[in-house]
Amino acid sequence: MKIFETVTDYREWRKSIGSQKTIGFVPTMGALHAGHASLLKKAREENDFTVLSIFVNPTQFNQKEDFDKYPKTEESDLALAKLHGVDAVFYPTDPKELYPHGYHYQVIENEFSKTLCGEFRPGHFEGVLTVVLKLFQIIMPTHAYFGEKDHQQLKLIEGMVSEFFLPVRIVPCATVREKDGLAMSSRNARLNREEKALASFLYEAMSKVDDLKAAKDKIEDKGFKVEYLNDVPEGSGSRRYIAAWLGKVRLIDNVKR
Ligand code: AMP
Repeated sequence: MKIFETVTDYREWRKSIGSQKTIGFVPTMGALHAGHASLLKKAREENDFTVLSIFVNPTQFNQKEDFDKYPKTEESDLALAKLHGVDAVFYPTDPKELYPHGYHYQVIENEFSKTLCGEFRPGHFEGVLTVVLKLFQIIMPTHAYFGEKDHQQLKLIEGMVSEFFLPVRIVPCATVREKDGLAMSSRNARLNREEKALASFLYEAMSKVDDLKAAKDKIEDKGFKVEYLNDVPEGSGSRRYIAAWLGKVRLIDNVKR
């Protein structure tokens, strides 16, 4: 498994494998778990090469504390990547590698990105879309894998790819959950034992209680602070999105209805 810390080194490898091969790309911020593993597995099944990126992107954090406390587990991340047959890891450790001139150019979406998480995390989706565009330009994948766990992000990336005619196919991947229903997330590592036991209630209530206000009340009664809980039309039905704080940890989830 190759590990590249610089754009130049990765590009040399990318050139060496030619343009006829398919490349399945899984962008992440590390602290890998079974959710990320499911994306890697799919990428490997469907492509000649699998590329993983690990980069904690500073521009998508709207709170310094969240960025500073983002879990870093380099050794186990690389072991998981190896186990899943990753061919190359793009692992820039210095943000300057991706932002050599600062943050003067940004990708901005003006509608959906201003709702749900975007309403409460100003600048978040601009950071996400900007770094994903940069990564696509560097990695040059044919396919890129994104989790439905971050469904708003997935939709915005699909929109960006379509609007800018980017030559990559976006492959959505189902949310991987703990046995009790809690959506796996790198931030779950920051829940204490008591909070971990409570956390699964979020998914249970949001998926079982039909009425929005009743669902919100039930969740808040358990000690969560709900940031938003909305049903958004999707196809012939809708999708329910939630963000809620449990102590100092912000959890998000969504379900198709
Ligand atoms: P992150 O490292 O949290 O930025 O996530 C990297 C990718 O993994 C994103 O496409 C996420 O949507 C996806 N992902 C994270 N958690 C899960 C999960 N529990 N199930 C499926 N995909 C996930």
